[in-house]
Amino acid sequence: MSSNGNNRPNLSGIGMTSQRTRERLLGRLIDQGINSMEVLDIIRSTPRHIFLDEALSHRAYEDVALPIGHNQTISQPYVVARMTEALLKSGAVESVLEIGTGCGYQTAVMAQLAKTVHTVERIKPLLDRARKNLKLLKLRNINFRHGDGSAGWENNGPFDAIITTAAPQQIPRELFQQLKQGGRLVIPVGGDNQQELQLITRHGDDFSAEVLEAVRFVPLLVGQLHH
Ligand code: SAH
Repeated sequence: MSSNGNNRPNLSGIGMTSQRTRERLLGRLIDQGINSMEVLDIIRSTPRHIFLDEALSHRAYEDVALPIGHNQTISQPYVVARMTEALLKSGAVESVLEIGTGCGYQTAVMAQLAKTVHTVERIKPLLDRARKNLKLLKLRNINFRHGDGSAGWENNGPFDAIITTAAPQQIPRELFQQLKQGGRLVIPVGGDNQQELQLITRHGDDFSAEVLEAVRFVPLLVGQLHH
């Protein structure tokens, strides 16, 4: 985490994490077809460098996934923007379920668009770090859970939107069941090297599926870790 000499992270950033560097990232997202102003504004104003270790924070505004420890990564900004845009297509979302909090970057983006975000992470130290990061950004409309999110979070559902940031081989049935009418699920599906980003929409008891693009996420694993 970058600091300003009194051990408090610098939210606005300096040098490689400056506003100018962030604008360059925005240009890249626009070039790649992201056109929701709402999403672009949030990515512009959300400091990604606070989600990274100090040694990597100078790379925070590159459009790449980066390691966050525990064999996991912070998502690529373009992919965060693309998934968020897909969820917002049919209008505002009140309740969102996120599976795979990681360090909380995607959570921070969603929390600025939705009324409530429910987020589940199986690795406790990552969830703790996400809590800290999101508190620093003063985002308080988030419910955190340490556990296996592969069966969703039934007690808090159904949801307007579900976003999964780790890839199962097949979409768990529970996730379909926890979508509201007209609700949307965005999820990478497939094996280690080849996954497709799918957008599922609920219409009554029917579901339509659209393939958005090829992506590469860490696998959705079953079970929680106790440390
Ligand atoms: N959303 C993050 C990306 C996190 S990477 C971001 O914005 O940067 C995916 C995360 O999914 C990892 O932290 C991994 O531990 C978590 N994960 C994998 N399987 C899971 C499961 N079954 N339940 C909850 N979290 C899971």
